Amino acid sequence: SIVVTGATGHLGRHVVEQLLEKVPAEQITAVVRDEAKAAGFAARGVRLAVADYNEPETFDGLFAAGDKVLLISGNEFDKGRVRQHKAVIDAAQAAGVALLAYTSAPGSLTAALGDDHRATEEVLLASGLPYSLLRNGWYHENYTENLAPVLEHNAVVSAAGDGRVSSASRADYAAAAVAVLTGEGHENTTYELGGDQAWGFAEYAAELSRQTGQEITYKPVSADVLTGILAGAGLPEPLAAILAGVDTSIEKGELVITSGDLSRLTGRPTTPLAAAVSAALKG
Ligand code: NDP
Repeated sequence: SIVVTGATGHLGRHVVEQLLEKVPAEQITAVVRDEAKAAGFAARGVRLAVADYNEPETFDGLFAAGDKVLLISGNEFDKGRVRQHKAVIDAAQAAGVALLAYTSAPGSLTAALGDDHRATEEVLLASGLPYSLLRNGWYHENYTENLAPVLEHNAVVSAAGDGRVSSASRADYAAAAVAVLTGEGHENTTYELGGDQAWGFAEYAAELSRQTGQEITYKPVSADVLTGILAGAGLPEPLAAILAGVDTSIEKGELVITSGDLSRLTGRPTTPLAAAVSAALKG
């Protein structure tokens, strides 16, 4: 079967929804921490397995030989994500799965946020399992789901300078994962996934102005100032610094993806940023 971890997360939900359009529900297993969050999937015939990245034994016997597995990277930065991901990879290796696809970060990303992904890729390659590295670029939603302060202050604040980013929607990245999980010939592949169109923050502010009728401007700040703003808004200081570090990477062009892998895998153009803005404004 096709097994998806992190199935009740934002990306995982898109993946399971899109899998349901392609394969019978009983061939899909959603790995979840909280069964209640997956009641909708269960009602449609998706199999559920309960497991936690922090408890390796919960993955014992979860996978079967021949399964195709999507390991969606975790979001608990303080819990040792590499160790968490290794627990899943070890169980997949013991079972002899046919493919383990992992949602990684762009190969060009040097920001600290990429460290766990790079280390997980190394664990996966060392396992000898057939792998597919889905090196996801940035989500549109990282920006469009955080519009409240932008609309309040009429300002897009970023430490990315004139840097550009090739973001795409979560649904686009999910479609790429589904193509890899349901298609053939994706063993031992590395895909650099990103939106067809890179954009800069001045352009983003202009698009927001156009769609809201408010005059929204781009306010470039330094990484230190951004760290302070994010910490002031309640983010733990280390996380604020990590996020500001991503902007520094954007300024250096590390999140511009030119491979074309995403639209090639999905067979269609990626979702334009303007469409994600419009969806977010409709709420
Ligand atoms: P979410 O935060 O919505 O989902 C994270 C998923 O991981 C959830 O399903 C969560 O389970 C699961 N998870 C976290 N910790 C554990 C654990 N200990 N055991 C089992 N499951 C766990 O993120 P997205 O779906 O939006 O993105 C997927 C991943 O991509 C993120 O976790 C992160 O690693 C990365 N990411 C990428 C971004 C990008 O722009 N490319 C931006 C942000 C994140 P539960 O549903 O129970 O909470």
